Parts: sequence; C-alpha cells; structure tokens
Amino acid sequence: MKKLSILGSTGSIGRNAVEIVRRYPGKFKASGLAVMSNVELLESQIRALTPEAVAVFDEPSADDLRKKRLPVEILSGMEGVIEVAQLGGVDMVVSAIAGSAGLLPTFAAVKAGKDIALANKEVLVMAGEIIISEAAKKNVRIIPVDSEHSALFQCLHGREMNEVRRLILTASGGAFLAKSKAELEDVTPAEALKHPNWDMGQKVTVDSATLMNKGLEVIEAYWLFRMPAEKIGVVIHPQSIVHSMVEFIDGSIMAQMSLPDMKGAIGYAMSYPERLGGIMKFLDFGSLCELSFMEPDRDKYMSLSLAYEAIRAGGTMPAVLNASNEAAVEAFLRGKISFTGIPRAVSDTMSLHKVGKCGSIDEVIKASEWAREKAIELMN
Ligand code: MG
Repeated sequence: MKKLSILGSTGSIGRNAVEIVRRYPGKFKASGLAVMSNVELLESQIRALTPEAVAVFDEPSADDLRKKRLPVEILSGMEGVIEVAQLGGVDMVVSAIAGSAGLLPTFAAVKAGKDIALANKEVLVMAGEIIISEAAKKNVRIIPVDSEHSALFQCLHGREMNEVRRLILTASGGAFLAKSKAELEDVTPAEALKHPNWDMGQKVTVDSATLMNKGLEVIEAYWLFRMPAEKIGVVIHPQSIVHSMVEFIDGSIMAQMSLPDMKGAIGYAMSYPERLGGIMKFLDFGSLCELSFMEPDRDKYMSLSLAYEAIRAGGTMPAVLNASNEAAVEAFLRGKISFTGIPRAVSDTMSLHKVGKCGSIDEVIKASEWAREKAIELMN
C-alpha cells in the first residue's frame, strides 16, 4: 500500500489522482490532502478518503471547514501545506498545486525524502538546480506527471542517456493553431480557454495557446533528464495522441501514444514502475484518421524562443520567465492586455533582469517577486 499526500487535490490533476486512489483502494491510501481554498470539494474528499491530515492554504476557508467538525486535523496556511507535504509515513507526494505556490511544499517534500509525482512544472522551471540536487542527496525519485515528460520517461525506461540523440516534445499548438500571427492580436480570453484536446486549468490552457507551456516544458525536460537545451526539440502534433518521443543515436525513435487523458500519466507516476489496468480508454485505430507533425512557427510563437533564451542565460532567468508569464496571463484573463501582449511582457521583463545565481529557494523567490512586479509595472 502506497501512502500519498496529494497537494492541490481539488485541481484538475488532483481530482484525477483522488479518483485513481478511490478506484484502487488496495494500492493507494491518501494520507494527506492540501488545497488552496476549495473546502466544499475538500470536505467530500475527506469523507471519501478519510485522510490523517488536510491543509487549506487560505485561512478564512480553513476556518469555515473547521466549523464542520470533521474527524481530521485541519492545518492552514503555507505552513500547513508544508506539514502535509512532509507527513510521516507518506511514501509519495503528488505535487499538483498550480503555479509558483507549489514550490515551497514540493521542496519541503523532497527534503523530507518523499518521492514526488510532479505535475507542477514551475517547480523545476524556477528552481530546477536546487530541487534536482536535493533529490539526488535524499535519494528521492521525481516522476513526471506532465504528459510529455511522462512519455519521455516511459520511452527512456531501461535506456542509457548516452544512447539518446534528442528528446522531442509534442505540442498540440493550443487554441489558435490555425490563426495567423496577425489574427492573434485580437483573440479573447474565452477563445484562448478553448483547448482542442486537453481539459486543464485556465493558466495552462492559455500557456498552451501561446506555446509558453511548451517553453516551460523544455526547461522542465532540461532538468528532469539532464539534457542540453539544443538536444530538446518541439514539434507540433495537433491530435495529441503521441505525447512525446525520444530519438536514439541509431536513428530509432520511440514514441509514447494514448488518448489524451491525464489519468494515464498520473496513474503511471503513482504506481511506477507498475502499470494500472483499465485506467484509460484504449486507442481505436479505426477512428483515428491521421497523425500529423509540423515544425512550430517560431515567429508566431515567440514564447518558445524566450524559454530557450532563459535556459541559456541560466541562474534566475527561468524563474523570471515563469513569474512574468504568470503575471501576464492573469492580466490577459482580466482583459488588461492583449494575447500578444503576454510574450511581449515576458520578453521586456527578461531584458531588464540582471541574472543572479540560483543558490537558494529564497533567491528564486526574490527573483520571481521582482519579475512579477516588473511585469505588472511594464504592463501598466
Ligand atoms: Mg504537458
């Protein structure tokens, strides 16, 4: 029986993780749950899963939940979330709190020696060097939940990295694949939130449309697989059936395929190295018309180049890319800036940043805060 703490249990990844725990009660036990503020859903998860401890980041929401007098310890604030991340007896932490808020609890879990099922790519984008070296020190396994990285992880299973020529991340191209660069000027938030294949949170859906999501994933792959940036490629694959590929030195390419259902990658990370039976619908080749691939248009998708630039600059630059993008996506969703203003805000913020070294989580957070404020200032 694997004991889990699920951070972000009411988000789209977290809900899927909870569903898997409920479907395989003999394999998993959810010992800890942590959420930002959705205490209604958390309450029903507590009743279904009977965890030992839960944490609610938002204090007033935690107080609301305490009034229900549920038979569980209710912690609150960032400290509470960290306590759930480090809960005694827990084998694996599912890191699914969206965005930079997931950094501290995930780092805490690594320090406590918990294996990580990592859905939160920002953790590695912001602090890859720190997280990966701490994980090595503590003998912690970081197993990707991001579908592309799960695909790479599966294709690399049992292989040596010196046999790998290239990692190829696939990208759906998001909501605006068919639009020209000029047409992107006046797309609306509602249009950007219509992802063709995946059902995900708002931030990552907008990031898919700008291709910043792929940029962040290049950085994530750089740290997870210790692969130089020039050996990580991106290819547009609108059907989202091939989740990513590994090209080996002999010219062979291994691809991992399935229907686009997040439960596949989540279940694999949770049960690795075993596979869970019946977790997804099976691929029906009869109804599959075609699989197509094309090079991304770098001119249209400026975010991709920004991500490679951030890797090249190193140090605090990836954290700056991430934080300025978070601020810009929020501004876009509130109607304050245009869609094409998102990469512009990121690029402007990056060009004003003096790269510092990334020695501690504090330095990462300071650089992120600087970037957030600078981006907001530039957008006003
Ligand atoms: Mg992904």
